[in-house]
Amino acid sequence: MEGKLTDFDKEMIKKSIELAIANVEKGGEPFGAVLTKNQEIITEAVNEAYINQDPTAHAEMQAIRQSGETLNLPRDSDITMYASGKPCGMCMAAMLQVKITRVVFAADEELGEVYGWGTQPLYDSLKKDFGQQGIEVINCPDPKSKEAFVAYDNKHKA
Ligand SMILES: [Zn+2]
Repeated sequence: MEGKLTDFDKEMIKKSIELAIANVEKGGEPFGAVLTKNQEIITEAVNEAYINQDPTAHAEMQAIRQSGETLNLPRDSDITMYASGKPCGMCMAAMLQVKITRVVFAADEELGEVYGWGTQPLYDSLKKDFGQQGIEVINCPDPKSKEAFVAYDNKHKA
Protein backbone atom coordinates (compact mmCIF):
# COMPACT_ATOMS: atom_id res chain seq x y z
CA MET A 1 0.00 0.00 0.00
CA GLU A 2 2.52 2.54 -1.21
CA GLY A 3 1.81 5.61 -3.29
CA LYS A 4 1.34 9.26 -2.54
CA LEU A 5 -1.94 10.93 -1.65
CA THR A 6 -2.79 14.19 -3.37
CA ASP A 7 -5.22 16.92 -2.32
CA PHE A 8 -7.54 15.61 -5.06
CA ASP A 9 -7.35 12.12 -3.51
CA LYS A 10 -8.35 13.51 -0.12
CA GLU A 11 -11.20 15.49 -1.66
CA MET A 12 -12.56 12.40 -3.47
CA ILE A 13 -12.27 10.29 -0.32
CA LYS A 14 -14.32 12.88 1.57
CA LYS A 15 -16.90 12.69 -1.21
CA SER A 16 -17.05 8.88 -1.00
CA ILE A 17 -17.63 9.11 2.75
CA GLU A 18 -20.39 11.72 2.28
CA LEU A 19 -22.03 9.36 -0.24
CA ALA A 20 -21.79 6.52 2.30
CA ILE A 21 -23.43 8.57 5.05
CA ALA A 22 -26.20 9.78 2.73
CA ASN A 23 -26.76 6.17 1.62
CA VAL A 24 -27.41 5.07 5.20
CA GLU A 25 -30.09 7.78 5.39
CA LYS A 26 -31.75 6.21 2.34
CA GLY A 27 -31.74 2.74 3.91
CA GLY A 28 -28.56 1.46 2.29
CA GLU A 29 -25.30 0.11 3.63
CA PRO A 30 -22.52 2.51 4.70
CA PHE A 31 -20.36 2.56 1.57
CA GLY A 32 -19.75 5.06 -1.21
CA ALA A 33 -17.38 5.20 -4.16
CA VAL A 34 -16.20 7.71 -6.73
CA LEU A 35 -14.58 6.65 -10.00
CA THR A 36 -12.33 9.18 -11.71
CA LYS A 37 -10.39 9.44 -14.95
CA ASN A 38 -7.45 11.82 -15.07
CA GLN A 39 -8.83 13.66 -12.04
CA GLU A 40 -12.33 14.04 -13.45
CA ILE A 41 -15.31 12.26 -11.94
CA ILE A 42 -16.75 9.53 -14.18
CA THR A 43 -19.42 8.44 -11.72
CA GLU A 44 -20.42 8.36 -8.07
CA ALA A 45 -22.00 5.27 -6.55
CA VAL A 46 -23.24 3.76 -3.32
CA ASN A 47 -23.81 0.28 -1.98
CA GLU A 48 -27.26 -0.77 -3.21
CA ALA A 49 -27.10 -4.41 -2.11
CA TYR A 50 -29.98 -4.01 0.32
CA ILE A 51 -31.92 -1.48 -1.75
CA ASN A 52 -31.78 -3.58 -4.96
CA GLN A 53 -31.84 -7.01 -3.31
CA ASP A 54 -28.58 -7.59 -5.19
CA PRO A 55 -25.72 -8.79 -2.98
CA THR A 56 -23.19 -7.84 -5.67
CA ALA A 57 -24.27 -4.18 -5.72
CA HIS A 58 -21.32 -2.92 -3.67
CA ALA A 59 -20.42 0.73 -4.26
CA GLU A 60 -17.34 -0.10 -6.33
CA MET A 61 -19.30 -2.61 -8.46
CA GLN A 62 -22.03 -0.04 -9.04
CA ALA A 63 -19.42 2.55 -10.05
CA ILE A 64 -18.01 0.09 -12.61
CA ARG A 65 -21.51 -0.72 -13.90
CA GLN A 66 -22.36 2.97 -14.20
CA SER A 67 -19.13 3.92 -15.96
CA GLY A 68 -20.41 2.95 -19.39
CA GLU A 69 -17.86 2.92 -22.18
CA THR A 70 -15.21 4.77 -20.23
CA LEU A 71 -13.50 1.62 -19.01
CA ASN A 72 -13.50 0.08 -22.50
CA LEU A 73 -11.59 2.94 -24.10
CA PRO A 74 -7.90 2.57 -24.94
CA ARG A 75 -6.06 3.22 -21.74
CA ASP A 76 -3.62 6.09 -21.59
CA SER A 77 -5.35 7.52 -18.59
CA ASP A 78 -5.34 7.16 -14.84
CA ILE A 79 -8.53 5.50 -13.59
CA THR A 80 -8.83 5.73 -9.83
CA MET A 81 -11.49 4.19 -7.60
CA TYR A 82 -12.10 6.02 -4.35
CA ALA A 83 -13.93 3.97 -1.75
CA SER A 84 -15.16 4.94 1.70
CA GLY A 85 -14.13 1.49 2.98
CA LYS A 86 -11.54 -1.14 2.11
CA PRO A 87 -12.74 -2.94 -1.04
CA CYS A 88 -13.77 -6.57 -0.61
CA GLY A 89 -12.35 -9.43 -2.68
CA MET A 90 -15.23 -9.36 -5.17
CA CYS A 91 -14.74 -5.66 -5.87
CA MET A 92 -10.95 -6.03 -6.10
CA ALA A 93 -11.43 -8.83 -8.64
CA ALA A 94 -13.80 -6.65 -10.67
CA MET A 95 -11.34 -3.74 -10.53
CA LEU A 96 -8.53 -6.01 -11.74
CA GLN A 97 -10.80 -7.28 -14.51
CA VAL A 98 -11.52 -3.77 -15.83
CA LYS A 99 -7.95 -2.56 -15.25
CA ILE A 100 -8.56 0.18 -12.71
CA THR A 101 -5.21 1.95 -12.24
CA ARG A 102 -5.39 2.96 -8.57
CA VAL A 103 -7.58 2.32 -5.56
CA VAL A 104 -7.73 4.76 -2.65
CA PHE A 105 -9.86 3.89 0.38
CA ALA A 106 -10.65 5.36 3.78
CA ALA A 107 -11.85 2.91 6.46
CA ASP A 108 -9.31 0.11 6.83
CA GLU A 109 -9.75 -3.51 7.90
CA GLU A 110 -9.33 -2.71 11.57
CA LEU A 111 -12.06 -0.07 11.57
CA GLY A 112 -14.38 -2.14 9.36
CA GLU A 113 -14.08 -5.15 11.65
CA VAL A 114 -15.19 -3.11 14.66
CA TYR A 115 -18.54 -2.58 12.93
CA GLY A 116 -18.88 -6.02 11.34
CA TRP A 117 -17.71 -5.05 7.84
CA GLY A 118 -14.39 -6.90 7.76
CA THR A 119 -13.17 -8.13 4.36
CA GLN A 120 -10.45 -10.52 5.53
CA PRO A 121 -12.53 -13.76 5.58
CA LEU A 122 -13.22 -13.42 1.83
CA TYR A 123 -9.56 -12.59 1.08
CA ASP A 124 -8.51 -15.65 3.11
CA SER A 125 -10.91 -17.82 1.10
CA LEU A 126 -9.61 -16.43 -2.20
CA LYS A 127 -6.05 -17.40 -1.24
CA LYS A 128 -7.07 -21.06 -1.32
CA ASP A 129 -6.78 -23.06 -4.53
CA PHE A 130 -9.66 -23.06 -6.99
CA GLY A 131 -12.16 -25.67 -5.87
CA GLN A 132 -10.93 -25.59 -2.26
CA GLN A 133 -12.93 -22.57 -1.15
CA GLY A 134 -15.95 -24.27 0.37
CA ILE A 135 -18.10 -24.48 -2.75
CA GLU A 136 -18.37 -27.79 -4.57
CA VAL A 137 -16.81 -27.26 -8.00
CA ILE A 138 -16.99 -29.99 -10.66
CA ASN A 139 -15.48 -29.92 -14.14
CA CYS A 140 -17.76 -31.63 -16.67
CA PRO A 141 -15.81 -31.83 -19.95
CA ASP A 142 -17.92 -31.83 -23.11
CA PRO A 143 -16.47 -31.74 -26.63
CA LYS A 144 -19.22 -29.30 -27.63
CA SER A 145 -18.01 -26.73 -25.06
CA LYS A 146 -15.47 -25.32 -27.53
CA GLU A 147 -18.17 -24.38 -30.04
CA ALA A 148 -18.96 -21.11 -28.28
CA PHE A 149 -15.28 -20.10 -28.52
CA VAL A 150 -15.11 -21.11 -32.15
CA ALA A 151 -18.33 -19.20 -32.92
CA TYR A 152 -16.87 -16.10 -31.28
CA ASP A 153 -13.60 -16.38 -33.20
CA ASN A 154 -15.49 -16.87 -36.46
CA LYS A 155 -17.55 -13.76 -35.79
CA HIS A 156 -14.78 -11.49 -34.50
CA LYS A 157 -11.46 -12.77 -35.79
CA ALA A 158 -12.32 -13.75 -39.35
ZN1 LIG B 1 -17.13 -5.12 -2.42
